[in-house]
Amino acid sequence: MPISDRLLMGPGPSNPYPEVTLALGRPVLGHLDPEFLAVLDSTNNRLRQVFATLNALTLPISGTGSAGMEASFVNFVRAGDPVVVGVNGVFGERMCEVAGRVGAEVIRVDAPWGEPIDNDLLLSAHHSPSIIAIVHAETSTGVRNDISQLGAEKGEALLLVDMVTSLGGIEVKVDEWKVDVAYSGTQKCLGVPPGLSPLTVSDRARDRIIERPSSWYLDLNLLSRYVDGSAEGGRVYHHTAPVTMVAALHAGLGAVLEEGIDAARIRHAECGRFLQDGLEALGLELFAQEGHRLPQLTTVCVPKDLPSSMSEAECRRLLLSRYGIEIGAGAGQLAGRVWRIGCMGHTARRRNVVTLLGALKEVLER
Ligand SMILES: *Cc1c(COP(=O)(O)O)cnc(C)c1O
Repeated sequence: MPISDRLLMGPGPSNPYPEVTLALGRPVLGHLDPEFLAVLDSTNNRLRQVFATLNALTLPISGTGSAGMEASFVNFVRAGDPVVVGVNGVFGERMCEVAGRVGAEVIRVDAPWGEPIDNDLLLSAHHSPSIIAIVHAETSTGVRNDISQLGAEKGEALLLVDMVTSLGGIEVKVDEWKVDVAYSGTQKCLGVPPGLSPLTVSDRARDRIIERPSSWYLDLNLLSRYVDGSAEGGRVYHHTAPVTMVAALHAGLGAVLEEGIDAARIRHAECGRFLQDGLEALGLELFAQEGHRLPQLTTVCVPKDLPSSMSEAECRRLLLSRYGIEIGAGAGQLAGRVWRIGCMGHTARRRNVVTLLGALKEVLER
């Protein structure tokens, strides 16, 4: 198979940082080798820094972002618990599905796709929910939901936030915002291949972890005994950590911290603005509501006047075959209506935006 050199500008994986590629090629260590355990400890420390938290229970779940979502519900939901979920895209829908499967009484609070969730509606949807769950950065619509004020008004509920696409791309303050449970993914703004889901749990939430969750693999009681080397009795093997992926995440977090979390956030903001201005200059229409647009994931309406009666899928295929650039299709109810363009992690560079805009101009004959 030829080695393809794609510019990944979709909603899926971004191009990894060069440091990450090096880490992926290093010799494999044993999952209980002290050298590896030091990398794991350091990874968890770096995760605390990017999540802006002091939470002791902070670790990469073995699995993609969705595994973090499962872990966040299966460890805290008992059958019949009222769980309020904000839904304005595919990933809010997925939260409802996951919460429902672990027996929650799901109370949905919908907003039109392309618009943010109304926090007043979210907070008043139930008199005493056990969990209020929301997606920070909706990758299916390119919308940022405002979560910074929710923690102050959550009452007895746990605040559970999907930070898969926000972590490393826009501001994230887990402790300051009083977020109780947050999970992310490696392949979005952290610039690491898919495979791990960083998770952080507040002490308040830790006290509410159920004793015997229905998932053995995602049981945080067991996982915390593996992750925390300082715990009584030392580390207890749970499952074989994906050592190579942990090393890659360690390297990716190192790249982000070396650049600086704020500098990386500003780079994403500038890149997103540059892309969005450039798309509008081509006469295209942005989909997400102004003021709530994510810089790292831009939704743009598929133009009605595609050249020589090309389909929108053919346009994307042409971008891939002729220029090696991948952008994303619309998801869920937006299929066929929008394109999703990512500027995430290492991919968020001005030169990539210039390349994409030039290619798009040629494909669309504008
Ligand atoms: C990508 C994504 C997920 C799912 O992550 P996977 O790694 O695909 O399992 C969940 N939530 C949001 C907001 C995402 O963008």
